[in-house]
Amino acid sequence: MDEGRAIISPRRRPPLPELDRAIEEAARLIAGSRHVVSLVGAGLSAESGVPTFRGPEGLWTKHGEPDLRDYDRFVEDPKRWWEMRQERGSRFAELAQALDTAVPNDGHFALRDLEEMGRLKHIITQNIDNLHQIAGSQAITEIHGNRTKLRCVACNHRWPYEGFPIDELPPKCPDCTNGIVKGDTVMFGEPIPRDALDECINQTRRCDCMLLIGTSAVVYPAAQFPVDVKNGGGVLIEVNPNETPLTGLCDVVLRASAGEALTGVVERLQTSA
Ligand code: NAD
Ligand code: ZN
Repeated sequence: MDEGRAIISPRRRPPLPELDRAIEEAARLIAGSRHVVSLVGAGLSAESGVPTFRGPEGLWTKHGEPDLRDYDRFVEDPKRWWEMRQERGSRFAELAQALDTAVPNDGHFALRDLEEMGRLKHIITQNIDNLHQIAGSQAITEIHGNRTKLRCVACNHRWPYEGFPIDELPPKCPDCTNGIVKGDTVMFGEPIPRDALDECINQTRRCDCMLLIGTSAVVYPAAQFPVDVKNGGGVLIEVNPNETPLTGLCDVVLRASAGEALTGVVERLQTSA
């Protein structure tokens, strides 16, 4: 374990001075970096009432892992997929309902503040919930898509779901005219859209400080980005109440909810500015 690394036991509520020390160290690293990028996972939206997949309260932890052939089924029969879209399978009813009513929490607003302060250059999010945009963040790459949008599988053009004309099933792309249109959310088994992946690679190359926020860091390719940053000489800051496979690589670990930890980091940067 590195000298001076601010690790706090995940098993208990961290004593405040320890979390304070970790927040101070995180703020120091952010202030000393040129290109800070956040890699965000479902844990950021947990305080907005959106359940995660993994972690103690995760949907998969409670209900088991889902079938991973979603995209194959879409490719085989896109018309059927569109018909089923309205029916909403019961496995994800809990998630869909939470997403419909979720609003951003302190963690989303803290990321917005960090960007406005010029401290945060980009958010790579695995979340599909649109809460970064609602909170007011600007520079965002949604590696797993956005549930409020549709996308052409051929040319990657995206449109808001609301108002898109669906005259036939499956709908065809109005831009490249032969591509099939699907929900922008990346399905199990579906490749990450090339434009999003390229931007993630570009951001990771430039990044000298990555914040890992509420991600279990086991879904590839997202889990590779922090490893690349570290190998390139950058620093990693983890914000997660639980340990992850990447904890051991991190320079600072904030064992607290994203809302509490990120608000603390913003306040520290404001007072030291
Ligand atoms: P995950 O479900 O695998 O892991 C969630 C992580 O968040 C865990 O490590 C957990 O310890 C941590 N966590 C729980 N509460 C937290 C809090 N208050 N503050 C900070 N961290 C907290 O999530 P993942 O790594 O993002 O991977 C799952 C995939 O599921 C993603 O790719 C995403 O596309 C999708 N997903 C998205 C949403 C959403 O859009 N909000 C919700 C569920 C799943
Ligand atoms: Zn198209």
